This record gives sequence, C-alpha cells and structure tokens, in this order.
Amino acid sequence: VKKEGRNNVRVFDERKETGDRPPIEREDDLRHALATGQFVLHYQPQYDLRNQQLTGAEALIRWHHPDLGLIPPSSFIPLAEENGTINDIGTWALREACQQNKAWQNAGLAPITVAVNLSARQFYQPGLVQVVSRILEETELEPRYLELELTESIMIEAEQALIVLRALKALGVRISLDDFGVGFSSLSYLRKFPIDKLKIDKSFIQECPVDVNDATIVKMIINMAHNLKLSVMAEGVEDKDQLTFLTQHVCDGAQGFLFQKPLPGRAFTEKFHELQSF
Ligand code: C2E
Ligand code: CA
Ligand code: CA
Ligand code: CA
Repeated sequence: VKKEGRNNVRVFDERKETGDRPPIEREDDLRHALATGQFVLHYQPQYDLRNQQLTGAEALIRWHHPDLGLIPPSSFIPLAEENGTINDIGTWALREACQQNKAWQNAGLAPITVAVNLSARQFYQPGLVQVVSRILEETELEPRYLELELTESIMIEAEQALIVLRALKALGVRISLDDFGVGFSSLSYLRKFPIDKLKIDKSFIQECPVDVNDATIVKMIINMAHNLKLSVMAEGVEDKDQLTFLTQHVCDGAQGFLFQKPLPGRAFTEKFHELQSF
C-alpha cells in the first residue's frame, strides 16, 4: 500500500511538473533535445559586395521538435540562456558548424568562413577558449575559417571581455560584432577590442534607403568601420534598392533573403555551386 501510495505521488508530481507549461519552457526538454539530436543548423550565405562572391555562411540553430515541428531560436534561446543550457547547446552548434565547414572543404568546394553566434552567457562561460580550441583541433578546421558572432552585450564586463577576446584572437578565429547599433553603445571599445567586423543590425537596413535617417546611420556605420580598419556587413538585405545603396556606399559584405534564406546543411551543400555568387 505504501509503495502504491508513493507511486501515485510520483505520478501526480510528474503531471504537476509537465502539466500547465508548454514543453519548451522546461530545461529537461532542452537537454533531451540536445541528447537526442533534435537541434539542427541552417546556413545563410554571406557575400562580398565588391565581387559578388560567397565568402561565408552563418549557422543559425533550429529545434526540430517531434510534436511542434521546426521551432525558431527566438522561442528557446532566451530560455536556454536563462537556465544555462545554452553552453552545451552552443558547444554542439560550434562543433556541428565546424564539422560542416570542414566537410565542404574536404569535398573540394571553395573555402568559406562559417559564422557561429555566441550569446554573452556562452562568451563568459569558464573554459570557452579551450572549448573553441578543442573543437578546432577535433574537426581540423583552420581557425581562420571560423568566425564568432558576438553582440555588444559582452562589452558590459569590458576588462574580462578584452581578456577573452584576445585569447580567441590568439587562436586565429575571426570576431564579428553582431546587431551593431542597437546595443550597449560605447564606441570607445571599438578601437580597443580585437574585432574584425561589424554587422549592421537589420533594423537599420529594413527601411533603407527610403528612410533618410536609417540611410544616414548606415552610411555612418560603414564609414566609421572603415576608419577603424574594420570590415562591415549588412544583414537582413531583402531588396535590390537596399543592395544598390549598400554597394554604392561601399559596404563590404551582405546577407539576407534577397540572396538566400537560411538552408539546411544538406540543401546548402547541394546548391553550393549555385550559391557561389549572386
Ligand atoms: P541574428 O544572429 O541576428 O541572426 C539573423 C536573423 O535574421 C536570423 O533569424 C535570420 O534567419 C534572419 N534573417 C536573415 N536574413 C533576413 C532578411 O533578409 N530579413 C529578415 N527579416 N530576417 C533575416 P533566426 O535564424 O530566427 O535567428 C534569430 C536569432 O537567434 C539570431 O539573430 C541569433 O541571435 C540567435 N541564434 C541563432 N542561432 C544561434 C546559435 O547557434 N547560438 C546562439 N547563441 N544564438 C543563436
Ligand atoms: Ca548573427
Ligand atoms: Ca544580427
Ligand atoms: Ca540578434
């Protein structure tokens, strides 16, 4: 009787845990998804605007949920950041992206950079530099073909950020500053920090060049980047007018739906030659 009672309580507790909340609010589900291979990376081409050539691919995570279908990162990355599972999920994404890029190179395709997003929490996890270093060794990807996309939020701890950035640069990987212009806005760190590239946030590109203010900001960011000897890329490029504007103002690179939506690795591989230039 006692045993039965305990079982009942356990069943009741489990129902209470899973009952009201949607599955993606549970840390266990994120861990389970990782352990059972439910995460996938999609890749979006990045282009050089001077020669129209493919230079890289940004890896963007999705959750292939058995019941809910394909879940976008906005629905689970914030939770993963909150409960810390982002570190393991991010390590998986890093390894997967490096493996994929090495596989493209091994297949004889023209070498490109793979860009992987890192949240601030990942950036500050103890041992991040060792994790990156180990993955590069394991996958035998040359460091210069890996780019880490960080946001301005990492600059909050400026001293510590500088230490980690220097260690990452010492590995030979590239660093880009994502969502540039919308975050923590102290420009002083830009010259102090070993950053290779600014990615202009897509909110500035959206209404560009029709919105004169946005167009001014975009021009300003391009000029500032070049004066600081940084490369600059526009994200979220959706139409020809945006592309023309960016090309005229000598933005170095671009990505967006105009060129290609993010593709599963396999589809990217199949279209690789077609994606080679726009
Ligand atoms: P993000 O790094 O700023 O990525 C760009 C987002 O814009 C992606 O959304 C991409 O699919 C979308 N996008 C690309 N081209 C266009 C366009 O022309 N127009 C518009 N409107 N959108 C475009 P996605 O894939 O849903 O990713 C959302 C965010 O989730 C990313 O923003 C990034 O912050 C985060 N994320 C994605 N993958 C990872 C990951 O592996 N690790 C971490 N920590 N964060 C990730
Ligand atoms: Ca990004
Ligand atoms: Ca971005
Ligand atoms: Ca973002």
